[in-house]
Amino acid sequence: MKKVFAILMSVLLLAFCLVPAFAADDAEPCQHLGATENRGYIAPTCAEEGFSGDIYCLNCGEKIADGYVLEKSQIHRNAVAEGAVQATCTTPGFTGDRYCADCGAFLSHGQTTSINPKHHGDYSLEVRNAVEPTCGKGGYSGDTYCSGCNQLVTEGIALRPTGEHTDADGDNVCDDCGTQLPEATRSFKDYFLGLLNPKTFFRVLADLFKTFIKTLAGQ
Ligand SMILES: [Zn+2]
Ligand SMILES: [Zn+2]
Ligand SMILES: [Zn+2]
Ligand SMILES: [Zn+2]
Repeated sequence: MKKVFAILMSVLLLAFCLVPAFAADDAEPCQHLGATENRGYIAPTCAEEGFSGDIYCLNCGEKIADGYVLEKSQIHRNAVAEGAVQATCTTPGFTGDRYCADCGAFLSHGQTTSINPKHHGDYSLEVRNAVEPTCGKGGYSGDTYCSGCNQLVTEGIALRPTGEHTDADGDNVCDDCGTQLPEATRSFKDYFLGLLNPKTFFRVLADLFKTFIKTLAGQ
């Protein structure tokens, strides 16, 4: 029993010695000598001021230094050109003056560019040297020229002969090559309209009569 009491006493004694030691440690203020953290940093831009960020002690969590305002940056990251003009085959262009898209600051003057022979802008294109193909002869689609600079834009292509005779005047002779055409090449509509013309009507009647006589004669 005496032994147990002795052990209990020594444990209590030890506890009394240690507790004040811990308490003293807690009461001693943090010297903030360990790791710190920056909170709230904002990078400055050309348009807005920044913030250096507050400094916190990671050991005790206290703010140990206030941040301060950072001046606007002189670096303009997003430039835009204004008043740019595209060069055409007859007029020079302009690259446009450059401004900062973020703060609007003027950055640099634009430059005049030389004419661009390949950009014909709003000029109309004219087709020249076109040749209509006929029944026996090939044609040509025509070359395309710019009405502004008068330069050849695209060359034409050869067109095949149509292979079909044309007979606009209805004389059964091809207008292009002079080939005699059979009656059948005239459309039924043309034939019918022709009949409405009294002159044609009587000619057709006469032809029919002649054919009839020839048939009778056995030819
Ligand atoms: Zn601290
Ligand atoms: Zn800017
Ligand atoms: Zn042109
Ligand atoms: Zn023909």
